[in-house]
Amino acid sequence: MKEVLNLMRMVAFLPYAFTAVAQDRATLTVGTATAARGETAKGWIEIPSGSDPALRIPVAVVHGGKPGPVLALVAGSHGTEYASIVALVDLIDALEPRSISGSVIVVPIINTASFDRVVPHLNPVDGKNMNRTYPGRPDGTESERASFAITKQVVEQSDHLIDFHGGDLDESLRPYSYWSKTGREPQDRVSREMVLAFGLDHIIVSTGRPADPNASIYLENTASTRGKPSITVEAGHAGTVMPEDVDALVRGTLSVMRHLKMLPGDPTPVESPVWIGTLHNVTTDVGGVFRPLVARGTYVQKGMKVGTVTDFFGKTLFEARAPESGVVLYVRAVPSAVKGDNLASIGVVLE
Ligand SMILES: [Zn+2]
Repeated sequence: MKEVLNLMRMVAFLPYAFTAVAQDRATLTVGTATAARGETAKGWIEIPSGSDPALRIPVAVVHGGKPGPVLALVAGSHGTEYASIVALVDLIDALEPRSISGSVIVVPIINTASFDRVVPHLNPVDGKNMNRTYPGRPDGTESERASFAITKQVVEQSDHLIDFHGGDLDESLRPYSYWSKTGREPQDRVSREMVLAFGLDHIIVSTGRPADPNASIYLENTASTRGKPSITVEAGHAGTVMPEDVDALVRGTLSVMRHLKMLPGDPTPVESPVWIGTLHNVTTDVGGVFRPLVARGTYVQKGMKVGTVTDFFGKTLFEARAPESGVVLYVRAVPSAVKGDNLASIGVVLE
């Protein structure tokens, strides 16, 4: 009886054992893509229709020739943050599975309706922000169903995750990354090493993310609250696909893979990054025509004017001022502004 109980216990733990040692699998499957060792498979995560239409999310599974960690790379929660989407499209065939120890799950875009219809920030199908609907639900709207599938098929099968973003169509953004502190020291140490290895020279220290895995809201937080050291990275701005932004995202990913011993060679970590403690958004009290007075990456003093909003006759209605001294992480890239819109984001540098 005791042996039977032990066997039952083992069986009960098997799903967790499989999750923890996914790197030992002969094959790895995400959606319709099943890759054997040393192969890349391409397919789709199929989201069935519900109260709104079905969705197909492209996925590539790069199953390395040797065992090692499973790294998930996900872009395009926001389908018009193009540099990050292009970086992952480029990475799929650049990753040579036979030379990799471990596996890479690449999702170059989740929010395909945003991409197709050139709609920033939201999924136009249900009007939701696809990086605010985690861990998702199988019976929700399209964004919630997609988040549920990503949680189950991508996050839960991974050991680490990098969530790729950038300045959206209306954001002139300088590159930066997020290091989220969970308070669990061993995990935070690994994610800190990942964010340094990625190499972006401005790093936001994020401490206020939800701790409940059932209310994780953000993609990276969905991985972090499930015990997987993970980071978020941002490069690209205002609809552009600049080679330096795409290169920074590709190089950063390969450097993290070297740090995790998934690729041979040494990582190229950033030497002396600027650590940012808090973000201050500058929102407008009125709608009108916005004109910036600062560029992305500019350092500003508290109280400095960062832009103006006029009416359509040129009369100044609002002067946007920096609420604290810091670096302009992004500034609004378009003149359109309605009441409550974010005009700039100021990062306060940690001493
Ligand atoms: Zn984004």
